[in-house]
Amino acid sequence: YLKPMNCPFHNLIFRARARSYRELPLRLAEFGTVYRYEKSGTLSGLTRVRGLTQDDAHIYVTDEQVKDEIKSQLEFVFATLRAYGLNDFYLELSTRDPEKSVGSDEQWEIATETLRQVGEESGLELVADPGGAAFYGPKISVQARDAIGRTWQLSTVQVDPNLPERFELEFTDKDGQKKRPIMIHRALFGSIERFFAILLEHYAGAFPLWLSPVQVVGIPVAEQYGDYLDDVIERLRMAEVRAEVDHSDDRMQKKIRNHTAAKTPVQLIVGENDRAAGTVSFRFRDGTQTNGVAVDDAIALITNAIAARVQVSTADDLAAVIAPEGPVEVKA
Ligand code: ZN
Repeated sequence: YLKPMNCPFHNLIFRARARSYRELPLRLAEFGTVYRYEKSGTLSGLTRVRGLTQDDAHIYVTDEQVKDEIKSQLEFVFATLRAYGLNDFYLELSTRDPEKSVGSDEQWEIATETLRQVGEESGLELVADPGGAAFYGPKISVQARDAIGRTWQLSTVQVDPNLPERFELEFTDKDGQKKRPIMIHRALFGSIERFFAILLEHYAGAFPLWLSPVQVVGIPVAEQYGDYLDDVIERLRMAEVRAEVDHSDDRMQKKIRNHTAAKTPVQLIVGENDRAAGTVSFRFRDGTQTNGVAVDDAIALITNAIAARVQVSTADDLAAVIAPEGPVEVKA
């Protein structure tokens, strides 16, 4: 059924049976789709929608584990964002709004202080956001700047002593006593829809090879080279590359224009010379080409570039990719 958030359901999973301190930190994560009736005036593309999928995690820890867990979660966040090419970010610390919050002053103080320490130790800029916390606990959020300097709130890490109280969560500690866990709410991307929109803007549609919906498109110079190209593309698909052949009726130049406009990172063009020599020719987004690459080498270059998560927009980008056997000889 429709739900506005995932937290309560993870709490029910935690509470479904007796828990021991040995299980903590207990980390539950899901891609949870939630629904929120945002006012129509505030809806915007993929960045603000009424049905969204959060990569949501809730981590249950003892008091002593809170700090280390936040630290490792933040490191996870930074590594994830950097993998997507977002390298420019700062942290924001959202603190209590006394009018809109539950829990004791002491709980809030400890939770806020722990977040502040971890934030400061990260070495990143830490900006205050007084009163910006959710009702149940303070949070650190990661604000990323995209390629054209706009700032987006992405990942969040929240410390919450209150929901465990309200859901009466408990675990048996070393000494046999029942204790309350602390709950950490964590989202890496925030919402998948919104993150996707941010990446689209950040890359201006020109995704790195590993993220492109279509990574390689095969273009035969004329119809009779289609079969040869099909075999090459099939080998790429066996290597889990998202590749296809353009068998449409368009002329070759038109196909090249279409796929360049679609920002497909790699076009493999094949004519008589390539078929005779067992090679393919690469064409990149900027119009540069690398001709006559042996099919085995081409496959190695493409799969290595994907594994290395590098941007491949030019012939030089490809030349910088190292094949497993060492640098591949390519003729410009
Ligand atoms: Zn939550």
